Amino acid sequence: MAQTQHRNIVVIGGGIIGCTSAYYLTRHRSYSPSTTSVTVLEASTHGVAQGASGKAGGLVAKWAYPSELVDISFPEHTRLANEHNGKERWGWRFANCGNWEGRGETLTHRGTGGSLDTSSGVVSPRDESVHPDDLNWVKKHLTESYSPMSAPDGTAQVHPYLFTTSMMDLAMEKGATLLRGSATAIEQEVGCVTGVRYSDPIDGSSKVTPATHVVLSAGAWSPSIVASLPISATRAHSVTVRPNPEVTIAPYVLFTEIALPEGGVGTPEIYARPDNEIYACGLADDSPLPTNVDGVEVDQTACQSIWEQVASISTEFREATVEKRQACFLPVVDVRGGGPIIGEVRSIAKGLYVAAGHTCWGICNAPGTAKVISELIMGGRSIKMRNLEPSRYL
Ligand SMILES: Cc1cc2nc3c(=O)[nH]c(=O)nc-3n(C[C@H](O)[C@H](O)[C@H](O)COP(=O)(O)OP(=O)(O)OC[C@H]3O[C@@H](n4cnc5c(N)ncnc54)[C@H](O)[C@@H]3O)c2cc1C
Repeated sequence: MAQTQHRNIVVIGGGIIGCTSAYYLTRHRSYSPSTTSVTVLEASTHGVAQGASGKAGGLVAKWAYPSELVDISFPEHTRLANEHNGKERWGWRFANCGNWEGRGETLTHRGTGGSLDTSSGVVSPRDESVHPDDLNWVKKHLTESYSPMSAPDGTAQVHPYLFTTSMMDLAMEKGATLLRGSATAIEQEVGCVTGVRYSDPIDGSSKVTPATHVVLSAGAWSPSIVASLPISATRAHSVTVRPNPEVTIAPYVLFTEIALPEGGVGTPEIYARPDNEIYACGLADDSPLPTNVDGVEVDQTACQSIWEQVASISTEFREATVEKRQACFLPVVDVRGGGPIIGEVRSIAKGLYVAAGHTCWGICNAPGTAKVISELIMGGRSIKMRNLEPSRYL
């Protein structure tokens, strides 16, 4: 593309991948609002970060995968946090992270959460030496083993909703715009993208916004625009609670294996957050993907089950106020290396870029993905992501 030609970049999807892409596009050295426009097209009537990106755990890890993307993403997360005060703005911090195994205590009164007691004397004493000294929100005597997953500087966290909305706000400060609407098709002429057709949320009419470049970052919904993308959708539930403010919840992320008092094993992931929130998520299910993120249904039984599992090992969690019971869809790449899929899809149209299928590491890998996409579109790409290129998948 000639330097003087106006770039009209439309990013489909205001999740972490789309919003962070908008941020990197507007921070690229070749960017100027007079020569480049960046528009994020988002289908939710509630704005950005309404899907997995607003409801994930928020782990950012050096040991995540794929390594070629993590190697860019982790330092970029650190840089972004330093540059924009991520500590205050989106809860950036290093955290302890480990596998925790132990036993849950019986909840004597089953209910809606927040007011139950555990029965005493039903659990045999454990070897308390394996329990980290500062892990103050899990009962010591229930711990059977704890093994850290990385060195202290190997795992960090963000609040994913705050990170995603901050990326969008920072992109808008440099001239990016948010357009509400649901993309329905990529418009093209002689093999080049010319625009994105979308449904207007106000009157339901079909409109086209012009584009010289399109970034498809619609998470689990990406195949509704490019049907050949091998991305499927998996629903996962989570709950957040707010403990008593007098208790400072130690910074731990736990991958648990809880022997449940009623039999069976629960494996919730539990994230202590800097604002003293605790987040916990559970197993995935195969509920069908609704057409719009605003239509995601929450199964209250699944949320209650997560709450009970965590409450069975933590008084602080059990006595906390439940704030959110929610669900979202994870974009899963089921073939080859497991994705994500990042790059231009010339076999469909010149100017069409895919950045989707981030499975369980999209929060961690958003900055690396966005940096690659911005360099592919704006120039100066030095990073090779051959294993993630769309030609390997399509
Ligand atoms: C329970 C859970 C915990 C997780 N924990 C972590 C973690 O700790 N660390 C980590 O790195 N990752 C984690 N993940 C994974 C991470 O959440 C995802 O990989 C990431 O959020 C995907 O981001 P996305 O932007 O691709 O998709 P999404 O967040 O789903 O965003 C896609 C956006 O596209 C919009 N959209 C869809 N269709 C259209 C359309 N036709 N037109 C316009 N807009 C459209 C949607 O409304 C949505 O806003 C977790 C996921 C789950 C489910």
